[in-house]
Amino acid sequence: MVSFKEFYNTIDNQLHGTEHARSAINPTSNQPNPPVPVSGKHDLDTAVDAARRAFKRWSQVPIEDRKSTIYAYISGLETNKHVFAEFLSREQGKPLSHAMIEIESTIGLSRGIISVDIPENIFEDTPRRKIIQRYIPIGVVGAIAPWNYPVLLSMSKIIAAVYTGNTVILKPSPYTPYTGLKLAELAMDSFPPGVVQALSGDDSLGPMMTEHSGIDKISFTGSISTGKKVMASCAKTLKRVTLELGGNDPAIICSDVDIDAVVPKIGTCAFLCSGQRCMAIKRLYVHKDIYDTFRDKFISFVQSLKIGDGTNPDPDVFFGPLQNKMQYERAQDILASVNSENLTPALIGGPTESPGFFFAPVIVDNPPDDSRAVTEEPFAPILPLLKWSESDTVSVINRANNTDMGLGASVWSKDVEKATAMASQLEAGTVWVNTHFELGPTVPFGGHKCSGIGVEYGLAGLTGYCNSQSLWVRRDAAR
Ligand code: NAD
Repeated sequence: MVSFKEFYNTIDNQLHGTEHARSAINPTSNQPNPPVPVSGKHDLDTAVDAARRAFKRWSQVPIEDRKSTIYAYISGLETNKHVFAEFLSREQGKPLSHAMIEIESTIGLSRGIISVDIPENIFEDTPRRKIIQRYIPIGVVGAIAPWNYPVLLSMSKIIAAVYTGNTVILKPSPYTPYTGLKLAELAMDSFPPGVVQALSGDDSLGPMMTEHSGIDKISFTGSISTGKKVMASCAKTLKRVTLELGGNDPAIICSDVDIDAVVPKIGTCAFLCSGQRCMAIKRLYVHKDIYDTFRDKFISFVQSLKIGDGTNPDPDVFFGPLQNKMQYERAQDILASVNSENLTPALIGGPTESPGFFFAPVIVDNPPDDSRAVTEEPFAPILPLLKWSESDTVSVINRANNTDMGLGASVWSKDVEKATAMASQLEAGTVWVNTHFELGPTVPFGGHKCSGIGVEYGLAGLTGYCNSQSLWVRRDAAR
């Protein structure tokens, strides 16, 4: 069983501490969690050297053998799922039941990623010549993860990187370093030294990785502003980059929906993980004919969701705390804008009396399109409800598209054909009809506009961890 008592970097299949240590904060109690390493340049250089050595052999291991090794690793996570879920809840703040869902989804996604075949494309196969396109590994991948889904987002990068024959160095968020470090520690049971490593650090470690000439690709998930810095830094060494960034997902609700049936689904899609999900519904456009009824039922549903300490096994808790002080203050700042911009709250929430970063949900009643609650990604349980009608001078599609973000979007209607036609006009990497945020390991996921570059998952996600190589073989010239 993986022990969550002490935390180390994993370098070359050995556990390493660092001279200095730091602790992240448990957002439920506002008390420090255990100390973790603060890695510096020397630690990174050592890990990169080990990763480069390991790459030479790992990249030559046949893919079926890589698959069995990865399968054993995923099974190791499954065996340890309870301890991982407990600490995930403690470091992230999400209720234990939701933490377990994250771990189980991670296991399913990971197995799904290695079920995707990476074919070679044959352009010609004649007595004269053979021409094929192969996908070969890039080298050393730096995986940089955020704090909202630390296990799922770290593990899917690790699996995609090593399945395609790369080696990987994971850098978890300084807010949630614990489960990421343990994912690499667990990997020591399955992988040769240097294939899967993890380093925890402070704010200086990410830039050190993006600048490092021994790292060949960065797979980054995080905010748009950091994504821009990552891309600028990677440009210096022409590293490959995949950027999965923030979103401001719209959902358009048509007048013919079954309100009682959709309200719980939409409420969950908006507020799961206390709204701290890249593809949470963040703008809700409700048709004017049902607006008032929908709003009232939506508020009743949201009020029925329990806020509290979900790190104990209380299965009824839905809203855990916001993950960190920075996010907690940002939510309060957006809430302050609701007052300063004279918006009408339909549900007044905000900070609660608690040592942790708990924040009760806020629903804003039909604010103007240019208010901050509409234009910004709150990454907190603050949701604007907006009214639309067919006769709007600016159509609801244009309003939904009027943002520089484009991660996800959905349309909800009983008329599936009409909803599909509307959804296909939305500018986002994933568009859904009568659902939101479903994703699968075989289906590419990524953002349009400022929400990202490249995709994760599916064949396209995997080939993002590869270089394309065109191989021309002249058979006639050999005779
Ligand atoms: P963040 O950008 O602050 O941090 C993400 C990671 O980048 C952390 O590990 C951080 O330490 C590291 N980092 C910070 N500065 C860096 C730099 N200059 N160079 C390299 N690395 C650096 O994001 P966050 O606050 O942890 O996460 C929340 C954001 O992530 C939200 O905007 C959310 O929408 C987005 N997100 C996107 C997806 C997606 O798949 N598109 C998924 C989850 C979260």
